Amino acid sequence: MNKKEDTLFHKDELLEVTITDIGNEGEGIGKVDGYTLFIKDAVIGDVVKAKIMKAKKNYAYAHLESIVTPSPCRIDPKCRVARQCGGCQLQFMTYEKQLEFKAGKVRNNIIRLGGFDAAQVDAAMEKILSMDNPFRYRNKAQFPIGTGRNGQPVTGFYAERSHDIIPSTECYIGTKENQQILQTILDYMKANQVPAYDETTGRGTVRHVLIRKGFSSGEIMVCLVINSHVKGGDYLRNQQAFITALRQIKGMTSISVSINNEKTNVIMGTEIHTLWGTDTIQDTLCDLTFQISPLSFYQVNPVQAQRLYDKAIEYAQLTGKETVWDLYCGIGTITLAMARHAAHAYGVEMIPQAIQDAQDNARENSIENADFYVGKAEEVLPEKYEKEGIHADVIVVDPPRKGCDQMCLETMLKMQPDRIVYVSCDSATLSRDLRILCDGGYQLKKLCPADMFPWTVHVETVCLLSR
Ligand code: SAH
Repeated sequence: MNKKEDTLFHKDELLEVTITDIGNEGEGIGKVDGYTLFIKDAVIGDVVKAKIMKAKKNYAYAHLESIVTPSPCRIDPKCRVARQCGGCQLQFMTYEKQLEFKAGKVRNNIIRLGGFDAAQVDAAMEKILSMDNPFRYRNKAQFPIGTGRNGQPVTGFYAERSHDIIPSTECYIGTKENQQILQTILDYMKANQVPAYDETTGRGTVRHVLIRKGFSSGEIMVCLVINSHVKGGDYLRNQQAFITALRQIKGMTSISVSINNEKTNVIMGTEIHTLWGTDTIQDTLCDLTFQISPLSFYQVNPVQAQRLYDKAIEYAQLTGKETVWDLYCGIGTITLAMARHAAHAYGVEMIPQAIQDAQDNARENSIENADFYVGKAEEVLPEKYEKEGIHADVIVVDPPRKGCDQMCLETMLKMQPDRIVYVSCDSATLSRDLRILCDGGYQLKKLCPADMFPWTVHVETVCLLSR
């Protein structure tokens, strides 16, 4: 039943409000008579007119109608589709303010959710790792292809929480080449009457374009994700024209198709066919070379990833004698970087293909003191500890957003490594886990936020805990 709530303000009411805070999703927060408004795209310090969209008892979501007085932190975004696109949330905020917001978010969470003393957190906290040039940092992009109103193929970005394509080939966090590549693909589709895939009917061919670039090698990979029922022969109509056009682009190294015939939101299909060039491109991170295929997991901001890993290595304080366990190791980037400075490094990761890549990467880089295990950290670690009595001087964890499993944390506490280095992409679950580890005998020594994704609300953190 939809009972009308008794609220101070109602839907469609227009209010003038001063923005005094920033929400977790980057939205502006303001109060009118003690009633809280959450306003997307409003910047702290703005005075705005906002229209109530959804009113609750104590708060409402409101739409930014106009800006009465802009905040000193407000800027004009470079991007034409900043308000419609669901990708970046902080495009109206100066980069300085974004950094302050992110560092503050980490600090607040650790104090409030982790129950740490503010003075202790401030003493441990280092300056956020920021980018000198916060644009063009992504080495990977996935663009959906659809059909525009005029019947022609279009590409761009999904509008927030939808699958409507906002036509745009220019994104300032992606590489310069993306635009030319996308235009080349749209031109090929038009000239050869290759239709875009239609999500509702399941008909049509081209679903997505995946573009990756090795920033240190300059090598570019294009993988066209297609709905294709071709048996033998070419995957695309006039495939040679497609290859010839793309090959002209400077740096092009690998052109492939990925077959995805499923009615699904998953972008990539599992079957990949290289049409021209090599199956992988190469990149360098922490002086290690990596071969990247269309399906490989790889850090999307290599400049900041390098700095984050350098910080993790610094926190690990390796002298060459240590045994290091790297949990949630992905393709082994941190494991291999640590192995260089340790006696032995072990990586644990649940995706078998990632472990395969990690082993290949170890071989490619002639690293012989690293071993990898497939499985869940919370299963592999206890098993190795109970059955084989493994030892660790340093344990590194880099879990997904939901943080570490309880069992994993308990085993870490039993193993009593001298140091734990926690790399996190969610400061709320990080705070929860730090509390458990510190209640178990560890001390929070250092922590450093890192801005891996400028213009978005995301922030990474690396922490050092000692016994
Ligand atoms: N440290 C890596 C990847 C971190 S991303 C790097 O910097 O490149 C987190 C990784 O944890 C992913 O590869 C994901 O597949 C893996 N993962 C998620 N849950 C896991 C679990 N319970 N046990 C082990 N690995 C897990």
